[in-house]
Amino acid sequence: MEYKTQHTIILLYVLAFIYKVTIYTFTWPEDLIEFIAEIAMLIACFAVMYYINPLKVFPKIYWLMLFGSAFYSMSAFMDLTEEFFVESTVRNSNLDDFLKTSGFILLSLGIHRWMNLHLQLISELKRKAETDQLTGLLNRRAFIQRITGTFKPKESEGRAFLLLDIDHFKAINDNYGHACGDQVLTSAAKSLKAKVRKDDILARWGGEEFLFFLANVTKDEAIAIANSLRQHIAQLTFQCNNEAIQCTTSIGIYHAFSSSGLEKEIDSADQALYQAKSNGRNCVVLYE
Ligand code: GH3
Ligand code: MG
Ligand code: MG
Repeated sequence: MEYKTQHTIILLYVLAFIYKVTIYTFTWPEDLIEFIAEIAMLIACFAVMYYINPLKVFPKIYWLMLFGSAFYSMSAFMDLTEEFFVESTVRNSNLDDFLKTSGFILLSLGIHRWMNLHLQLISELKRKAETDQLTGLLNRRAFIQRITGTFKPKESEGRAFLLLDIDHFKAINDNYGHACGDQVLTSAAKSLKAKVRKDDILARWGGEEFLFFLANVTKDEAIAIANSLRQHIAQLTFQCNNEAIQCTTSIGIYHAFSSSGLEKEIDSADQALYQAKSNGRNCVVLYE
């Protein structure tokens, strides 16, 4: 049964109340306001006991909250039953305070853990939403967010977009298998990531395409960086299934002193890349 512990606690209260009726002198509550306040407190404790049920998947939080709300409800139950009898039915008045205090402490510890878990899950979710699963680089959405969001580089020398595409990548898949293709992409991404400067942004833009945003670069610097990336990849050897795989890249560059709109800038880099492919691949072309 889903709410076994909760149902049991409430059943025990009902039995305890019936037991009290048999041995103490019953009377209807006189102070209506106090009665309403006490019954509301008991219902609130029951509500907590029930709504934390989905937390069962996190047992440490669940049991802290369940014990906390159960202890607090016991104290509320004791207060409430006092309204129904002429004589006092609570022999140990300290027990009430003890249950209330310890219940509250357990509840607050539970809430604290729950909050930490929540923050941890949010940051994990954010990381997953921003990351390309295969390469671990930023994905397209995260790249756009970084550029259009908080990122404000000093752009006195200009900004550049470099669109890098692995040449004849389909042939790598065809010749060595898709798994080796994946391995080449992962290793190439790792090598490219090691090359980016502090303020640059690198993302996996598509299948075998990587997009760099270079902050604060001159046109010549952007070309030099692109050539060094191209040469770096060309000299790497990727090992897969005892095969040594090599590849080259083509890079399109768009350089400007201010933004003319992200879509237009990336499209210009793509046109330069297309030109690089037409020029025979393994080269760098600047959009003019
Ligand atoms: P080009 O030099 O003109 O860029 O030729 P290309 O073969 O690199 O380009 P094309 O667009 O013809 O093929 C890209 C290939 O990349 C096809 C697709 O199956 C492969 N690809 C895309 N994403 C992945 C991936 O995540 N893993 C693997 N192994 N292959 C991928
Ligand atoms: Mg390609
Ligand atoms: Mg491509």
